[in-house]
Amino acid sequence: MCGIVGYVGKQKAATLIIEGLKRLEYRGYDSAGVAVWQNGHIEVAKKTGRVANLEKEAARHKLTGTTGIGHTRWATHGGVTDANAHPHVSSDGRIALIHNGVIENYASMKKFLAGKGYTFASETDTEVLCNLIAYHYAKEPEVAGENRLLDSVRKTLRHAHGTYGIVVLAVDRPGELVTARKGSPLILGIGDGENLVASDVAAIVSRTQSVVYLKDGEIALLTAGSFSISTLDETDVTPVIDKVTWSISDAEKGDYAHFMEKEIFEQPVALENAMRGRFSEDGSTAQFGGLNITPAEFRQIERFMFCACGTALHACMVTEHQIERFARMPVECDYASEFRYRNSPLFPNTLFFVMSQSGETIDTLAALREAKRKGYKVLAVNNVVGSTIAREADGGIYQHVGPEVGVASTKAFTSQLLIGAMLALYIGRMRDLSFGAGVRMVNALKGAPDLVRKALEQAPHIRAIAKRYAHHTDMLFLGRLSLYPIALEGALKLKEISYIHAEGYPAAEMKHGPIALVSEKCPSVFLAPQGEIFSKILSSMQEIKARKGPIIAVVTEGTELPAGLADEIITIPACEEIVLPIVASIPVQLLSYYIAVERGCDVDKPRNLAKSVTVE
Ligand code: GLU
Repeated sequence: MCGIVGYVGKQKAATLIIEGLKRLEYRGYDSAGVAVWQNGHIEVAKKTGRVANLEKEAARHKLTGTTGIGHTRWATHGGVTDANAHPHVSSDGRIALIHNGVIENYASMKKFLAGKGYTFASETDTEVLCNLIAYHYAKEPEVAGENRLLDSVRKTLRHAHGTYGIVVLAVDRPGELVTARKGSPLILGIGDGENLVASDVAAIVSRTQSVVYLKDGEIALLTAGSFSISTLDETDVTPVIDKVTWSISDAEKGDYAHFMEKEIFEQPVALENAMRGRFSEDGSTAQFGGLNITPAEFRQIERFMFCACGTALHACMVTEHQIERFARMPVECDYASEFRYRNSPLFPNTLFFVMSQSGETIDTLAALREAKRKGYKVLAVNNVVGSTIAREADGGIYQHVGPEVGVASTKAFTSQLLIGAMLALYIGRMRDLSFGAGVRMVNALKGAPDLVRKALEQAPHIRAIAKRYAHHTDMLFLGRLSLYPIALEGALKLKEISYIHAEGYPAAEMKHGPIALVSEKCPSVFLAPQGEIFSKILSSMQEIKARKGPIIAVVTEGTELPAGLADEIITIPACEEIVLPIVASIPVQLLSYYIAVERGCDVDKPRNLAKSVTVE
């Protein structure tokens, strides 16, 4: 979690780093800090709270140096205090460090270092690592042709258990940065007379579109005019320079009040991008370029296993439903964080899928590694090109929806739903699904962007509803079949951005317990489109109404509900089942968004959260 930026060049490092940190703030916002080499010492400015606080603090420090490092923190070890903010400086004042991740054996390192006279100003694992680098640096002899800082960082990291993305600055090595990673993302930005390192391309694209994705176990040395990469065991690595395809305007919110709002309204275009070039010429199935598995191999598969976290897991649950329904193949879904430790017995001929917008979610990455270790092929659905998960998977499907900055996922979610639906179609067409059924599904999927446009037209109406319900402290989201995961997602969205306690349930499950919560103080959002079990959902609504629970009903256009049953009605356009979860996501996203705005919440940076969860 956390955002990292390092800069070495000719410009004022602090200005560029702070600009980069603002673009990474969605990754963590407990505190922010910057350290710059200037006039023979390392000057540090750091502050709890947002990057804006750091900006004020930095102004007092007059940071003019051209080599520096900066960080936004998502605290794991030690509270949210100025002292725990990064960068940390070793107690001998020689090394400054920023770190993303967790050093699991920090306690034994700390004991060792305390015995050597090192002292600690914070409660973090990071400061311990920083002092261990300083310890090795102090001991390491200067050898011609070798870089002492690089060698000491290597030595230190050989002792470190856990995860890290780090950038190191030394007081007696102006114009140099050392950076290394294991389990946390780091990307080098190769500029003209300047080089950068960051945890996300968003912090780099304003300076350069040439990037190198650092791999686990690699360490790099950056100066203004050069960079070199090697491994912890000192093998040189030939770097591959990639070009980032998006520009800085993709990561700006333009006229929208929040990134989340922008990303909600971007969904029709995002879906068009996610499906472009992915339907067969005969218009009866989907096709994917990067699966790296032949149709013949695919036909050998007897079941699928999907692992993901949070919103992406909800997308997997919808995909489970659709593959089972349309391709008639068994599918299982699991929390990646549970799967990685549970050691559940797995069937042979199972194909694994992992889903993660960022492609850096640590639990999902661990699930991928666990499945691969057991000899399974793992395919990934992810949005960020070149991410760790994309690289480690055997193949996969990119979402192609551009950067998603709002912490609460919207366009990434609906594009995952789209890709899941296309997978169901693809697998179905390899099995029992007829040409005609395939054509009908392709046409339905192609129509999804326009259906979403139509659903978005309800925004002013939903905003008015949100005003009436924003004061509630509890809410229920209810749906069935493929909309049950959308109910879970609606509840998650509302919880994360408005801090209202919300729960998602299969509608008929209410009577087995949760109905005890229902009163005039606990509204229920019913996802109740026309379909084969519409009448069953109506019965569930009646049960809630009989207990005075307010009802917000999301129904298909033209539906007539019994008088007085729903307190509020939101309509969605009539659509085929395969696209229904995408279309039904729109009202729950808008409702959560407008309720959070009404409550004055910081929608793009909800408390305690960060966008991509790269710590365990
Ligand atoms: N474990 C470190 C800390 O708590 C780094 C956390 C992060 O990745 O932001 O300070």
